[in-house]
Amino acid sequence: MSAEYDVIVVGLGGMGSAAAYALASRGQRVLGIEQFGPAHSMGSSHGGTRLVRKAYFERPDYVPLLVRSYQLWDELSAAVGTRLLTRCGALMIGRPDSAVVSGTLESARRWSLPHEVLDSAGLRARYPQFALPEDQLAVFEADAGFVSPETTVRAHLELAAAAGAELRFDTLVEQLEVGSDGVHLVAGGEELHAPRAVIATGAWAGRLTGPDGYPIKAQRQTVHWFRPLTAVTDYDPDRFPVYLWSLPVAPGAQRLEIYGFPHQPGEEGVKSALYHDWSEPDVNPDTVRRTVSESEQAALRQLLSGTIPGLAGDCVTSQVCLYPATPDDDFLLGVHPGSEGRLVLALGFSGHGFKFVPVVGEIVADLVVDGATRHDIGFLSPERYAVRR
Ligand SMILES: Cc1cc2nc3c(=O)[nH]c(=O)nc-3n(C[C@H](O)[C@H](O)[C@H](O)COP(=O)(O)OP(=O)(O)OC[C@H]3O[C@@H](n4cnc5c(N)ncnc54)[C@H](O)[C@@H]3O)c2cc1C
Repeated sequence: MSAEYDVIVVGLGGMGSAAAYALASRGQRVLGIEQFGPAHSMGSSHGGTRLVRKAYFERPDYVPLLVRSYQLWDELSAAVGTRLLTRCGALMIGRPDSAVVSGTLESARRWSLPHEVLDSAGLRARYPQFALPEDQLAVFEADAGFVSPETTVRAHLELAAAAGAELRFDTLVEQLEVGSDGVHLVAGGEELHAPRAVIATGAWAGRLTGPDGYPIKAQRQTVHWFRPLTAVTDYDPDRFPVYLWSLPVAPGAQRLEIYGFPHQPGEEGVKSALYHDWSEPDVNPDTVRRTVSESEQAALRQLLSGTIPGLAGDCVTSQVCLYPATPDDDFLLGVHPGSEGRLVLALGFSGHGFKFVPVVGEIVADLVVDGATRHDIGFLSPERYAVRR
């Protein structure tokens, strides 16, 4: 048997690295295990940027978690001496009755979050890059912006190691069993044991939670960088916010949303993507197609030509990334039922989890160390999908 650990964290991506840091900084003896290298580009936490906002159209229940996450983003920035969250503002765009606009306004009003509503003339005056039709609106949230997933993962890994965590990379956890004396794992052929474990395995959730475990499906998503048709400085963060645009579709048709970011220093193009490419089938994360076709790039350029025409230039590059999604698209965060608190799950963060990374780390540490958390996460409970082990 190996050295004594209080807790083993499986997966050191966005959530696992935050959990390892939060646990180690509470004096836990932490072993973190990752199948790839630090801040790799095989899962869900790469691609240079992640949108962060508080006025949450997906569900107002998330807002208190985001308020805390914002505090922790600032604390993390202070801890590493780098500003991680750039507050360039965000535009949530669409018809007034779209889920994006109506949901954003509902959250903003319920939680008294500062915001502005801009019509097409108002938006054209402030951000002329956007061609907003008369029957659509834009909700502007000044305190929103973006973070870098890779920089964040590295920051959490460095802080976790500095707080005493042992981190193993390029090591696959093959098996995991919950027993009366704790959790038994096999990683890289070595048997390991600890009283507690955390599963933060993203798109690979199915591997350790068992075939009839949680209904988390991995979906392939693509992101693209386009060369602007106008000066790239027109898309700098002080002139161009992050955005999510709900495009009108025929009644009953799948939702169609694009999102994007300001130009990043050192990047040749400006990043944008479909928010949720529903046409993509569930995939096996080990065999998923990781190349992007010209037709995928052309499809998005076509959408940009009617919305942000100055961005509909040549596609410079593209990347594949994975959404680990639950059927209701809400996260799966909490104690695995039937494990008597020995197994904590941080899974199913789909395409909207990164902005929660610091508070997820805090919640996981609460659950491991105290068996409970002050945060209201009932709506994210694994109970709703649980198959008892
Ligand atoms: C294209 C795209 C755009 C997105 N945009 C946004 C956005 O703008 N804003 C936002 O808030 N969110 C966004 N998200 C969502 C966000 O990025 C994810 O929710 C978040 O990164 C999930 O983190 P994770 O830790 O669950 O997964 P990951 O970071 O993938 O971590 C899981 C880790 O577990 C490891 N692992 C798995 N199985 C094992 C095993 N058996 N042994 C050892 N290691 C293992 C994997 O290698 C991986 O490193 C986006 C996601 C994608 C894909």
